[in-house]
Amino acid sequence: MPGNPSPSAPRPPATLRAFFSRGGALARALGNYEYRSGQWEMAEAVERALAERRHLLVEAGTGTGKTLAYLAPVLASGRRVLISTGTKNLQDQLMHKDIPLLARAVGRELKAVCLKGRNNYACRAKIADLERQPALLGLADLDRYRHIRAWAEETATGDRAELEDLPEVSPLWERLNARRDACTGSKCRCFDDCFLTAMRQRAMEADLVVANHHLFFADLAIKSRDLPGVLPPYEAVVLDEAHELEDIAGQYFGVGLSNLQLQDLAADGAALAKFIAAGNGEVANTAGQGWLPALQHAAEAGGHLFAALAADGEGRAPLRDRAAFVAAHRAVFERLRGGLAAAEAGMEALRPAPEELEPLLRRVRDTAAKVEYLFTGEAEGVVFWHERRGRGVYLQATPIAVAALLEERLFAATDTVILTSATLAIEGRFDYVRQRLGVPHGGERVVVSPFDYEQQALLYLPEDLPDPRTPEFAAAAAEEIAAILQCSQGRAFVLSTSYEQMRELHRRLAPRLPFATLLQGEAPRHILLERFRQTPGAVLFATSSFWQGVDVQGEQLSCVIVDKLPFAAPNDPVLEARIRAMQAEGRNAFMELQLPQAVLALKQGFGRLIRSRSDRGVLALLDGRVLRQRYGSVFLQSLPPYRRTRQLSEVKAFFAAAPGPEARAEKEARA
Ligand code: SF4
Repeated sequence: MPGNPSPSAPRPPATLRAFFSRGGALARALGNYEYRSGQWEMAEAVERALAERRHLLVEAGTGTGKTLAYLAPVLASGRRVLISTGTKNLQDQLMHKDIPLLARAVGRELKAVCLKGRNNYACRAKIADLERQPALLGLADLDRYRHIRAWAEETATGDRAELEDLPEVSPLWERLNARRDACTGSKCRCFDDCFLTAMRQRAMEADLVVANHHLFFADLAIKSRDLPGVLPPYEAVVLDEAHELEDIAGQYFGVGLSNLQLQDLAADGAALAKFIAAGNGEVANTAGQGWLPALQHAAEAGGHLFAALAADGEGRAPLRDRAAFVAAHRAVFERLRGGLAAAEAGMEALRPAPEELEPLLRRVRDTAAKVEYLFTGEAEGVVFWHERRGRGVYLQATPIAVAALLEERLFAATDTVILTSATLAIEGRFDYVRQRLGVPHGGERVVVSPFDYEQQALLYLPEDLPDPRTPEFAAAAAEEIAAILQCSQGRAFVLSTSYEQMRELHRRLAPRLPFATLLQGEAPRHILLERFRQTPGAVLFATSSFWQGVDVQGEQLSCVIVDKLPFAAPNDPVLEARIRAMQAEGRNAFMELQLPQAVLALKQGFGRLIRSRSDRGVLALLDGRVLRQRYGSVFLQSLPPYRRTRQLSEVKAFFAAAPGPEARAEKEARA
């Protein structure tokens, strides 16, 4: 993906070695700097990959300081490099913490731009349109709308993250954001002042551009359809949190549609018809020309069709025989198809064609194409599946393998792709990630964490627990957890591999534990984490969403207990299709896919415990298969070198050597 070198390429910090050295620029900028050889080692590998224009895989153990280890060489390279990370929160962390620190160290201001998905930005045209139509707002929204309108006059970015009191889910924001499906692009009267246009312009001139993986793959997928991308041109990419790439890429290279999208389409059509009618008498009859009722019929038929898809209730399931499904629901399917076709024809026939209709027409065409593909299109290399979540039913087509797609569209198109994460390697090797993501060649490096895991952490593998797949397991696990928590004085995460198991353990333990307990789902994730940090001795029961991206430093988190080896459910439609495809090729799906996936997940989960050099704690794994089964050694050899025990007495002794705050206070009082 060729691009011009950054026009404001800064002078590199004297040399990278000097920059990271004791007493170097970074040490001077950071009061409490600790030299970490791994950080320098990674920076040097990134520098070389950028200079030699080749791909690189780096596993950087927790505490390496990997963000600065790629930011500094990226800045020094003078190349136009896009940085992409896992979530918006991580983007904000780069923008507010790491990049300002780098700027202090290099002694000059850095131009950095954070790019997020379009729906994070305000749309000036929509804000102005709503101002003309205050009657479309309820009283409760009117104040908030005024607040957003005033903010839009002042903000430089238009990024909703600046609106601190805006709820995460806000129907008003949905009406005001810059999402593609309601944007008229260069025909828009606000185009010159558009936040998106300005942001892309700033990105072209920036020293550092920070995106997230969702945006990155959305851009890649759009470009592969020969449409203009959303990101500015780049010559090289750093993909942080690279262990998440396969799932996200699958999502964006796939196709999806839901009943809610069909409903939104009809609702937006109705709102638009009203808006046009109110603002322009000439086209006031557009709603009467049939396109809107056709759209509404399509949405209604879609509602029935999607309800039939998920007749078995919540959760995911494969749609194995699409032809049979369509045959069984032929009438309603034809109503959906016919409604969309009639709406499209009606909108195309409008004269004069109101400009505001164009984005809606694009959406109708796009939806019709999705309906065709999802129900009747080519199925080679794709798994079709559906999921019911609350009121929503989602039909998805996901590529079974993304490796070939990524090889062609990413690794062959961009000469330097750097993938990094704290968890990429299995037993020190990158075969798994290379094979799953299609990384063709290039360098690789495992940078070990600077933490002294042998001293800081104890891995407890209890004896004599029943097999976790048996019904006796839950009761025995609950007893074991209670005993461990007694030693740690709470201060623990209890991480389960399923919601069911999480609830079961919580139900058994919460009433009898002398510690405050928190349960995933009781409150949003960040609030639960804050409560955990603030509540002495708290125990949090959670599932996979707390296995990664959670950082609780200090003794408040002194113990992480994992109930089972985190093998993904093999009946998940995408995993099931991947397993079948590998078996059809005569490959061993367990060893090549399920096991490495679970190993990386366990590394992530255990990685929550030791977040700094002063952290200490116990990891407990209640799944005896790690010692009984031959594959167990792959887990153990992929984990950091924790000290290991099978005796609870050693867990007790470990905590006695570094007592918790309460025990310390008691000891001091006795003294
Ligand atoms: S160009 Fe699109 S996003 Fe920008 S103000 Fe206009 S309609 Fe909104």
